[in-house]
Amino acid sequence: MSPVYKSFIDGQFVSNQSGECFDVINPATNQVIYRVEEADDDVLQHAVSSSKRAFAIWSMMSAIERARILRKAADLLRERNDELAVIEVNDTGKPLQEANCVDVQTGADVIEYFAGLAPAQVGQQQAVGEDFYYTRKEPLGVVAGIGAWNYPLQIACWKSGPALAAGNTMIFKPSEETPLGAIKLAEIFIEAGMPAGVFNVIQGGAKVGQFLTSSNDIAKVSFTGEVSTGQAVAKDASQSLKSVTMELGGKSPLLVFEDADIEQAVSAAMLGNFYTQGEVCTNCTRVFVHSSIKSAFLKQLQTRIENNIVAGDPLDLEVNFGALISKQHQQKVLDYIAVGKAEGANILTGGAAWQPSGAPNGNFVQPTVFVDCTDDMQIVKEEIFGPVMCVLTFDDENEVIARANDTLLGLGAGVFTTDIQRAHRVIHQIQAGICWINSYGASPAEMPVGGYKLSGIGRENGIETLASYTQTKSIYVGMGKLESPF
Ligand code: NAD
Repeated sequence: MSPVYKSFIDGQFVSNQSGECFDVINPATNQVIYRVEEADDDVLQHAVSSSKRAFAIWSMMSAIERARILRKAADLLRERNDELAVIEVNDTGKPLQEANCVDVQTGADVIEYFAGLAPAQVGQQQAVGEDFYYTRKEPLGVVAGIGAWNYPLQIACWKSGPALAAGNTMIFKPSEETPLGAIKLAEIFIEAGMPAGVFNVIQGGAKVGQFLTSSNDIAKVSFTGEVSTGQAVAKDASQSLKSVTMELGGKSPLLVFEDADIEQAVSAAMLGNFYTQGEVCTNCTRVFVHSSIKSAFLKQLQTRIENNIVAGDPLDLEVNFGALISKQHQQKVLDYIAVGKAEGANILTGGAAWQPSGAPNGNFVQPTVFVDCTDDMQIVKEEIFGPVMCVLTFDDENEVIARANDTLLGLGAGVFTTDIQRAHRVIHQIQAGICWINSYGASPAEMPVGGYKLSGIGRENGIETLASYTQTKSIYVGMGKLESPF
């Protein structure tokens, strides 16, 4: 019998009355690993009333008291790193060698970072003649987080860290494909001394998400997922004029100039296409290589892919390339590969499903590189969210900037060149929110991240994010007689 998990509200698991359950499947084995009760109306109402009650307590605590609890939670996350990393691997199919040094740590870092910032938030005061006014940074109330499946625990930490530090309470809905990490975070918050109800987790799919986005009791929604879902969420949220943070998809460019360090640029292209088996929103899936170095770049890329990428049981620490989240998603990626072939792009390496010996039943797709791509191809325009790289060539700086920007998306971008002036000149003209020079993918807690254009609204991490979980109250103080015509 598989274990059954539930929504976690007010510090405990809460059963539904509807009896509805869904399966969670390990992407590397396609076995059911546990089942989860879907939140029904009673559970959802319970979550809202618990979060409202907890808001009255949490928002009245001093920022230092809240920070102390959040810092303790960050410590507990790090102490449980290995156990939590295995949960993430079984839910997502990503390699343990990634999860045990990135997923939990980067989540803990963000909680610790916002714990540190919270007590430093100050209002202003200004004299207006003899009178004066002052401002207070107040929390919004009950806010919602809705997560994607690629970094489940990290996403829950990145959303709850600033929200809770600012004094809000949060109802979090993880992806129905990876629901366990958020429950573990909720348990850790309680263990760290957080009042029950400050961070509630509700389980389910789109319907449960829609409850949050359309509820008048929720002041803000922070969403991570696909562009089309984000558009639906923003539309629903507009009915109650909620503020939204949208962390959506990308089709990011990597520009490799003729003076680039080719070995480093190949490392970036591989990291930005094959880390987490290609399921990373900022992936540089459009790799623009200067035509003069194309053959050297492709030769090294192919050699390193074919010799260094190891697929298999993601729990095996030698494995650096995992399984895609579901059979359905694997098929979507394979369909895109078929489209690329039909459009006339050629395959340098990969291009098929994969049954590695350590995990023959998993949803693997070979790391795939398309060459001879053109800007108008579907595989070059649309987010595939799998291990599929498109290589394009260019000759001129202005030409490649225009082509890199010729997309409705604008999440990430990278430039490789040893010319320092060109590096900055080019990146300043790229329409993307997260840019790297001679690097790719790093996302420390201190650095704001988020998209331009259809890739998102607002930012996560960095100082400005804390402010997005507050509202400013202005208070005018009269020091003399109130003049009135009445
Ligand atoms: P998705 O849009 O399918 O689902 C995301 C979440 O939204 C899930 O929890 C889902 O249950 C919920 N949901 C679905 N329909 C909803 C609705 N109508 N109302 C409210 N909630 C709803 O995305 P996914 O497949 O889980 O994740 C992959 C996508 O996420 C990719 O496009 C990727 O680029 C993006 N992503 C972006 C970032 C970022 O920071 N920009 C990070 C990770 C993933």
